[in-house]
Amino acid sequence: MSDVYAEPTTGAALTGPATLARYTTLRLGGPAARLDAATSAEEIVQKVQQAEARDEPVLVLAGGSNVVIGDQGFPGTVVLIRSRGFRVIAEDADTVTVRVEAGEAWDDLVAATIERGWSGLECLSGVPGSAGATPIQNVGAYGQEVAETITAVQAYDRTHGEVVRIAAADCGFAYRGSIFKYSDRWVVLSVDFRLTRSPLSGPVRYAELARALDVEVGDRVPLADARATVLRLRAGKGMVLDADDPDTWSVGSFFTNPVLEQEAYELLRERAADLGEPPSWPGAGGVAKVSAAWLIDKAGFGKGHPGPEGVAISSKHTLALTNRGGTASTAALVALAREIRDGVHDRFGVTLHPEPVLINCTI
Ligand SMILES: Cc1cc2nc3c(=O)[nH]c(=O)nc-3n(C[C@H](O)[C@H](O)[C@H](O)COP(=O)(O)OP(=O)(O)OC[C@H]3O[C@@H](n4cnc5c(N)ncnc54)[C@H](O)[C@@H]3O)c2cc1C
Repeated sequence: MSDVYAEPTTGAALTGPATLARYTTLRLGGPAARLDAATSAEEIVQKVQQAEARDEPVLVLAGGSNVVIGDQGFPGTVVLIRSRGFRVIAEDADTVTVRVEAGEAWDDLVAATIERGWSGLECLSGVPGSAGATPIQNVGAYGQEVAETITAVQAYDRTHGEVVRIAAADCGFAYRGSIFKYSDRWVVLSVDFRLTRSPLSGPVRYAELARALDVEVGDRVPLADARATVLRLRAGKGMVLDADDPDTWSVGSFFTNPVLEQEAYELLRERAADLGEPPSWPGAGGVAKVSAAWLIDKAGFGKGHPGPEGVAISSKHTLALTNRGGTASTAALVALAREIRDGVHDRFGVTLHPEPVLINCTI
């Protein structure tokens, strides 16, 4: 079993007060009134229904790598998603569709698909957390997003009390978003991915990855090479979990890259005229996705910038806010996030938005 989850479970339900810091990659978060681990889709539905019957709020938590939980914790039931495994549900000469249980460790899945010669997830190597959480914010990295391979999501619809299949076209996938993000309505039970039978990666789209692989953008490379290079690049930025490295005690990128309309982008260029061209990627409809890391750095918040009480910007990546251990608290982390957001706004007039889901805390 991968060590992706802070607290490995053996299948036995854990109950009673528990500090959620043990279950988040930030290692922050106060107690939950009740903690219930679910090891199958049926059990996930059952635990959610039981909490609803008790009239308690429900928080679904898997790898805890994209949540910031307040120091007060959660006054209800936290359902820990611990279902595992995947199986082929359809295949033809060119493609394989796998159904993956929500609690399957994401990177174990990526490794398994690469071993089998299935292409489509390789650039998402090293992203922490569970397979079931990947549709929530349309997980993406190095030019790939899960929206490209997900064909459907099986979910428990809490509004209607039934298990439903949601086709990818109805998931509302967008940059770090979907209909599932910030919504309590759906609990993802399993996700279907259609992958291509190929020893080669998809076309490499990300310039930094192409350079590291010594190929041109648009080239394809052996799957194992793509994985190894992505893992190396990520490790250099503290973006692969490492229990011994506080630079990885984070939620990855704390802010999304702001997407600006043409007019707002021109205003930014004016305000940044003394700093050169702000790095950006063109989007549909003339929008520009601007590098949040650049904005933060140029607003005076460099790598290692300290916040209050044992929190700081990672020494390896400007976008990661980290717990340095000791007296760190969620209050300190959100104070640092606020300082950065306000500083970037004062300097550039651009508002940064948090990427993780904030629970019982706010910036
Ligand atoms: C070091 C590091 C690097 C990262 N790099 C990337 C990256 O490159 N790209 C990227 O996109 N993200 C990245 N992330 C963020 C994170 O890993 C992903 O968003 C991941 O998919 C979260 O999975 P999780 O299981 O940890 O979700 P959790 O943190 O447990 O949950 C996140 C949210 O999803 C909800 N949720 C979780 N499971 C379910 C479910 N089964 N049904 C319904 N809701 C659910 C939770 O309620 C919560 O709102 C990184 C995080 C870290 C710590």
